[in-house]
Amino acid sequence: MRIAVCPGSFDPVTCGHIDIFARASTIVDRLIVAVFHNPGKKPLFTMEERVEMLRVATAHIPNIKVDCFSGLLTEYVRQQNSTIIVRGLRALTDFEAEFQRALLIKKIDPGMETVFMMTNTEYSFVSSTGVKELAMFGGNISGLVPEAVKAKIIERLNHD
Ligand code: ADP
Repeated sequence: MRIAVCPGSFDPVTCGHIDIFARASTIVDRLIVAVFHNPGKKPLFTMEERVEMLRVATAHIPNIKVDCFSGLLTEYVRQQNSTIIVRGLRALTDFEAEFQRALLIKKIDPGMETVFMMTNTEYSFVSSTGVKELAMFGGNISGLVPEAVKAKIIERLNHD
């Protein structure tokens, strides 16, 4: 069985992420979407909230499992009986960071392969950060995130 892991902050999940999940899920038997703790970022949503939003937003894709982890990505991927990491690429700006990360992963675990999927042109400008900023200033985020996520963002921003 071919298993791949798609790790990310997903704070929160956007339609760009879901497009990558849907496409990646067609080329593997099982796709594990894993929320990871990124010490460099101060999240708007807790890990549990992000996992819950991902579960709702990916309920229509049968071979997806949503999980979370903290620690070394390669160790987590191995624990899941996988050696494939899927990441999405939007623009040239993503490339530099992803290139470095993929090489670092290769260095610490040569059996691990990072695979990249190009963004759907419709979502090439969509990022979790951009969506949160837009919502903060009252912009319309419909179509950029699932409807359930939109409601959660608005609720969170109105309470803080
Ligand atoms: P991270 O904090 O690891 O960058 P993100 O949640 O921002 O996590 O993104 C997870 C993955 O999804 C990354 O590989 C990122 O490049 C990709 N991604 C984010 N937004 C999009 C999008 N609109 N289209 C394609 N890939 C995307």
